[in-house]
Amino acid sequence: MKRNRVGMSEFGLIDIIKKRYQTMNKDIIAGIGDDAAVFAIDKTRAGLLTIDTLVDNVHFDLSYTSFEDLGHKAMAANLSDIAAMGGRPVLAVVSITIPRDIRLKDIEKLYAGMRKLAKKYGVAICGGDTISGKQLSLTIAVYGEGRKNNIGLRSGAKAGDAILVTGSLGASQAGLDLLISKINPSTTLRARNQNTKLFKKHLRPEPRVKEAQLLASKFKLHGMIDISDGLASELHHLARESRVGILIDQGALPVADEAITAANSLKKDPLEYCLYSGEEYELLFTLPARQAVKAKIILSRAGTPCSIIGQVIKGNGVRMIGRDLKNVKVPDQGYKHF
Ligand code: ADP
Ligand code: MG
Repeated sequence: MKRNRVGMSEFGLIDIIKKRYQTMNKDIIAGIGDDAAVFAIDKTRAGLLTIDTLVDNVHFDLSYTSFEDLGHKAMAANLSDIAAMGGRPVLAVVSITIPRDIRLKDIEKLYAGMRKLAKKYGVAICGGDTISGKQLSLTIAVYGEGRKNNIGLRSGAKAGDAILVTGSLGASQAGLDLLISKINPSTTLRARNQNTKLFKKHLRPEPRVKEAQLLASKFKLHGMIDISDGLASELHHLARESRVGILIDQGALPVADEAITAANSLKKDPLEYCLYSGEEYELLFTLPARQAVKAKIILSRAGTPCSIIGQVIKGNGVRMIGRDLKNVKVPDQGYKHF
């Protein structure tokens, strides 16, 4: 959890903004607190709007992030938020703050990274703002659309639902740790390939846009969120917003193989990677148990592995049944470097 200068957590500040300053009108379906704002366009369609900023030396480090990586990642974070609502991204506007020492070539690379991903998902980059400033920063806002009666909200989880997650978890933080430590656990080809996968997951994450649309076309969506702060943190968001409890099964968690290998060489705990690794951009969602099994099969057949990791229960909080069958609290925290 990020902290600002007055020592307040980011989420504490957002709560105050929401309680005291959020303004609504009759068209707003969901405001502050979900992955994107949702508004009614007409009887059947909903508009979705999300925005995200990356700042040099806060969210990225140019010593191991290329300008193309940066453009890709900023676009991916926004597309992932539209996916987390079950929507289809339509267009993006981009605002950049450019310090003096940045070259035109670098900005072009930044745009090439954004364009490649935008093109893949049919998203237009069609506006923005350019200013000079001391620190490089990149802000992208993405507009998307979904079906008004089938938006995946953080508040949509219901007691009795199963909890699912796409892909595997842990590789983004493991990739970052390896990039920071510059430790190469081994020079064997296999290890190098594994590291490439880890670096790719951290630097060029793939937003689950197609998967979200597939789910929205086949199921009445319940709870849905993307993993930007980490599995544990997003489970807490779902539990709080839906006013339910969550119970997960440690044995069912899809820990990325590469994260296990990296954890061993970095002397870290793979479970910590799985629970707390942020910037994974996987989809975390809930569906009634029978549909969950079907969703898992449909996504797997479409090429995206999907795991059922637990269930939504009455009550509150997030707990996990460990391999030793002990039932423990899952703390509401992001990844801590230790
Ligand atoms: P995500 O990780 O999905 O991008 P965030 O944690 O950044 O979501 O934001 C959580 C919620 O708070 C979102 O609904 C977002 O729109 C809202 N939010 C964040 N910062 C502000 C702000 N400064 N003013 C109003 N709403 C905000
Ligand atoms: Mg999100």
